[in-house]
Amino acid sequence: METSERIWAAAGRVTRRLRSAGYRALLAGGCVRDRLLGRPPRDVDVATDARPEQVKALFPRAVLVGAAFGVVRVPLGGGRDVEVATFRRDVGGTDGRHPERVEFADEREDAQRRDFTVNGLFYDPEADRVLDYVNGLPDLEARIVRAIGDPARRFAEDYLRMLRAVRFTATLSFALDPATAAAIRANAGRIRGISAERIRDELTRLLCEAPRAGAGLRLLHETGLLAEVLPEVAAMDGVAQPPEFHPEGDVFTHTVHMLDAMRAPSPELAWAVLLHDVGKPPTAAVGPGRGGRPRIRFDGHDAAGAVLAEQILRRLRMPKRFVEAVSAVVRGHMRFAEAPRMRRATLRRLVGAPTYPIERELHRLDCLASHGSLAALDAVDRAAAEWAAQQALPSPLVDGRDVMALGVPEGPGVGDRLRAAYERQLETGETDREALLAWLAREFPPSATP
Ligand code: ATP
Ligand code: MG
Repeated sequence: METSERIWAAAGRVTRRLRSAGYRALLAGGCVRDRLLGRPPRDVDVATDARPEQVKALFPRAVLVGAAFGVVRVPLGGGRDVEVATFRRDVGGTDGRHPERVEFADEREDAQRRDFTVNGLFYDPEADRVLDYVNGLPDLEARIVRAIGDPARRFAEDYLRMLRAVRFTATLSFALDPATAAAIRANAGRIRGISAERIRDELTRLLCEAPRAGAGLRLLHETGLLAEVLPEVAAMDGVAQPPEFHPEGDVFTHTVHMLDAMRAPSPELAWAVLLHDVGKPPTAAVGPGRGGRPRIRFDGHDAAGAVLAEQILRRLRMPKRFVEAVSAVVRGHMRFAEAPRMRRATLRRLVGAPTYPIERELHRLDCLASHGSLAALDAVDRAAAEWAAQQALPSPLVDGRDVMALGVPEGPGVGDRLRAAYERQLETGETDREALLAWLAREFPPSATP
């Protein structure tokens, strides 16, 4: 059975159990939307009139996760859970982040407190019927993301919904209702009151799940949210590039094209694509081009971009390793083009780097979104194929004791010779230790300074 069918069937067991105990039990929210769209659900949510303690009594292994919000998590085995939430209404919520408290309510009110009409549907498995209290079905049909009720008021309850609106529009390939979009534009600045972690997670999902993440980025920009959450990226808009290298247009357009061309990217790749040219706006200058004619240059934009990427990702509270990987990819993203002229040792290091798969894909997208030539990539792939048998970098054939045995006194001369020998080993693919030592003794006699 397909996984989504399995989740759906498991949710059915939960709703049957609730029903046979005399409670109302409906499937709710995103899973109903996804079912009607023929998409696999990410998770399944059940809504019920049973109180959390009553749910807990029916499912002994269930865990109260948000007692205050009336949410109980029922484990299904295999790491899958169903969340069972008591019908509720949110009360208060003037800080733009949390309701003050929740009160248990009926299903109609529970639909009203949800964010968008297409997220406010219920499915009654017993009657095999969709229950639509918020006009979600016509919007699902017309493929529109629209706030339930007055958009500005709904955003004021939780400004993260502004980002969710853009994320759902992009991931579902829907249109954003104009009144909902206008309310986002009017309130975009309020997103700053939302925690970095929640913003980060929405942005990552937008980038990784949208079939055209570039269109998602444009919508983020048009609604004014981009300038608030990623001003460095918004600054790429309108930064012109030399048309001979970038016929597609400015830095922002180039990045949009790359994002659109990604297929099921990892978060590292998606963020690296988004940020790879973030160093261009601050480094743009007119300098000498081919034949001495002036052209726009972005000297050092890779290093400048790596510093900015690090700042941005730290600000968004990304894990340290994530920040380091993405920033390293941004720093190195111009190296690939040099591959056909690279020394073999340098190329070997490029291919052996842990971030190589991301760098390769970034480079491929970069070429396709600009001049379209994959010549450098072909050169790297040919070399990589030769090394494919060797997983990591080979271990050095020669160690410090070998070098001292050649008569080199302890000191910096040993390290210098070790580096030279390893460079030679990578360069020539030498596998014979004696041959390498002989080369070392010849090229760097004990008295010489390498
Ligand atoms: P996905 O799981 O694909 O992100 P989803 O619609 O299931 O989409 P969840 O975040 O899992 O989204 O939330 C489940 C449901 O809870 C939503 O469909 C929506 O009805 C409601 N919901 C979630 N977050 C909010 C919010 N911030 N404001 C209002 N309603 C929300
Ligand atoms: Mg969900």
